[in-house]
Amino acid sequence: MSRPLDVIIIGSGTAGLTALREVRKRSERFVIVNDGPYGTTCARNGCMPSKVLIEAANAFHRRLVFEEFGIRGGAALTADIPAVLRRVRALRDSFVGYTLQTTEELRERSIAGRARLLGPNRIEVDGRELSADRIIIATGSRPIVPKPWLAFGDRLLTTDTLFEQADLGRRIAVVGMGAIGIEMAQALSRLGIEVTGFDSGHRLAGLTDESVNATLDALLRREFAIHYGSAAELFEAPDGIGIRNDETRIVVDQVIAAIGRRPNIDGLGLESLGVALDAHGMPPVDPHTMQIADLPVFLAGDANGQLPLLHETADEGYIAGVNAFATQPVGFARRTPLAIVFADPNVAVVGKRLSELDSAETVNGAVDFDNQGRARTAQRNHGRICVYADHRSGRLLGAEMCAPAGEHMAHLLALAIGRALTVNDLLRMPFYHPVLEEGLRGALRELAAQLPTAGTSELGTCGAISPPADPRAG
Ligand SMILES: Cc1cc2nc3c(=O)[nH]c(=O)nc-3n(C[C@H](O)[C@H](O)[C@H](O)COP(=O)(O)OP(=O)(O)OC[C@H]3O[C@@H](n4cnc5c(N)ncnc54)[C@H](O)[C@@H]3O)c2cc1C
Repeated sequence: MSRPLDVIIIGSGTAGLTALREVRKRSERFVIVNDGPYGTTCARNGCMPSKVLIEAANAFHRRLVFEEFGIRGGAALTADIPAVLRRVRALRDSFVGYTLQTTEELRERSIAGRARLLGPNRIEVDGRELSADRIIIATGSRPIVPKPWLAFGDRLLTTDTLFEQADLGRRIAVVGMGAIGIEMAQALSRLGIEVTGFDSGHRLAGLTDESVNATLDALLRREFAIHYGSAAELFEAPDGIGIRNDETRIVVDQVIAAIGRRPNIDGLGLESLGVALDAHGMPPVDPHTMQIADLPVFLAGDANGQLPLLHETADEGYIAGVNAFATQPVGFARRTPLAIVFADPNVAVVGKRLSELDSAETVNGAVDFDNQGRARTAQRNHGRICVYADHRSGRLLGAEMCAPAGEHMAHLLALAIGRALTVNDLLRMPFYHPVLEEGLRGALRELAAQLPTAGTSELGTCGAISPPADPRAG
């Protein structure tokens, strides 16, 4: 039998390719195996095409405020959905193209096929057995579709198929109001499609702060209907797909299933590793080393179900790639939690969610954007930011928001939380005028007023001029 390889990587998505980069720095004795289309979920049917669609939708949506700006003729604009989708695919192809180069140049070290584990050092791909000192599993995830829904054929969409459509129906139901559901529902509604959202719970986009959730709910409901609180059921109707829950019953042309994603670990042979699997078939994975138990096997990216976000997936591929060559796997400190939903206004959760904090130890500050000066100039004055800090030290702990430019403010807060900054540290930074961050400052000031340091004199404690009439207020 030939000498084992140093590393086998299973899956050439973002996690697999990031692992590959680290592996290639250390060895030439590796293979990467991938099943299905190459090009990564992010570029092919995830982050990137969804954002292309959202950008088109938001651009078209702006016409609704043109009259108020004094710009006439907006009502005559139309959205050409097939053209919008063509642009999504054109840009998608270009993003995919970049990722393909990496595996194409590997030649025989890149194997197309479905891998199955035969043990901690062995896999099988299409009848061929390969062995390696280390195995990195990075098989990603796929949309969850309840089995009975498959009966609706190509009228039942997921983000795997949505961007492939040449055109879309006039009426679409989106089931699941998590990150992906909200992004797609709002985008399609903004493009003129009659969208109806369904969710069995009441929380949107992973928010746990009821006040931010209520703000987002009210804003989204201005654009499309959402029916909460009970599971949606599909049925065949004479003129389309019927969909009902306890609140409503409607007929649509297409349904988008956005009820979550399942790690691609079934049928992978994880039972051959000899470690206990949980009820979902998941082995124990250390989130700091990506190692499965004490085996020479690492599980990174969406496949481990821990942090299914692009930047975390890339980190995990990196960690697995480095640790595949370490005598003792290194425990990496993970980044400050940051999750963004590209709705308008942007939804973001940074650091700890409200639900993770002890209310007796935490103070909360909030700001609404209705009267925020800069937001009003752009007619983007909707949203809310809630920030949370430790009630003694004033250290910033987390934030939940749906706010204009929330994606940027969330990054600022992530930096502050990661650096263990206090509310007063943040208030000492310059806030240029007029910017949306002045809104965030309003929430921070509300926090500062509740801290033991309130009343001390320094520039950080300088208050607003005359809120809320002053445009710099908030
Ligand atoms: C619509 C959508 C929008 C998103 N938007 C964002 C966003 O805005 N920001 C963000 O941070 N994240 C976003 N995400 C999440 C992000 O795209 C994923 O976290 C990330 O792409 C996962 O990468 P991965 O490497 O784990 O998996 P993938 O990129 O899916 O790669 C896994 C690969 O493994 C292959 N494979 C599976 N089983 C086997 C097997 N047995 N043998 C061989 N190969 C196998 C798969 O076919 C695939 O090619 C979005 C996801 C979706 C679906």
